[in-house]
Amino acid sequence: MAQIIDGKAVSAAVKAEVAEETAKLRDEKGLKVGLAVVIVGNDPASRVYVNNKKKACEAVGFQSYEYALEESTTQEQLLDLVNVLNRDDRVNGILVQLPLPKHIDEKAVINAISPDKDVDAFHPINVGKIMIGEYSFLPCTPAGVMRLIESTGTDITGKQCVVIGRSNIVGKPQAMLLLQKNGTVTICHSKTKNLKEICLGADILVVAIGRANFVTGDMIKEGAVVIDVGMNRLENGKLCGDVEFESAEKKASFITPVPGGVGPMTIAMLMKNTLTAAKQQAGIE
Ligand code: NAP
Repeated sequence: MAQIIDGKAVSAAVKAEVAEETAKLRDEKGLKVGLAVVIVGNDPASRVYVNNKKKACEAVGFQSYEYALEESTTQEQLLDLVNVLNRDDRVNGILVQLPLPKHIDEKAVINAISPDKDVDAFHPINVGKIMIGEYSFLPCTPAGVMRLIESTGTDITGKQCVVIGRSNIVGKPQAMLLLQKNGTVTICHSKTKNLKEICLGADILVVAIGRANFVTGDMIKEGAVVIDVGMNRLENGKLCGDVEFESAEKKASFITPVPGGVGPMTIAMLMKNTLTAAKQQAGIE
């Protein structure tokens, strides 16, 4: 039976590290850390995410600046705000909550954020830096996954790592991070043939597809580390992952639950990136 990886505990440890360093910077260097969070429209899920980010800022001692814009906001107005925030010295990190309303081009907005303040690490410059291993910020979810794997004491070197999903925000950067830690990485997607066979070869399996209970125990190698990034809302309102937990935990050595696994890590890594941004902008790192 697998050991459960406690994402809440690992996330709390990351936030405690960030809070300690933030207090030290304030006391020793008079430095304050600020995160601007921009939300456009009334999507209830986005509202919850933004509130959680604000709460996390308070908990680690950051200033948070919220900009809640009307659904009817034009792309030009949003780009103007991003430009103002790029020049605002109180703001070390800028996060524009996605998805944006359909009439706004997300790419144009992401590209307008100064790469130094792009704490989501979505800007093409930061994405490119991840490819060459010279990054300042790591995208929050894949970075959180790496921290969870690290918490199990697993050495990634030489391990067969399988990532299911190839999105720009999870699958692709996840594969790069595992490669940088010397994993032998296979990326699977909706056109992959023999998915079960490939999964059965995985020492480390990261699943990020957005399909409830898709990966079942019979697809998992005995003793594998299984990380479930998926967040799916079932008809009964319950949250569930992309991995069928009950069958998978019988095969894995370590497994993340949903909720309480990868989810809490994403915000913790956002706090870490914002602190890094503040230090870099102050010439400390
Ligand atoms: P996405 O952009 O929709 O990408 C899904 C990926 O899964 C695509 O690459 C797709 O392949 C692949 N896929 C879909 N069905 C498949 C199948 N049957 N077999 C193999 N691959 C399949 O999703 P995402 O943004 O990466 O998110 C994935 C999941 O993670 C979602 O549930 C999301 O809610 C969750 N998530 C959680 C967090 C967190 O903080 N915990 C953060 C981000 C995302 P193709 O490319 O071929 O279409």
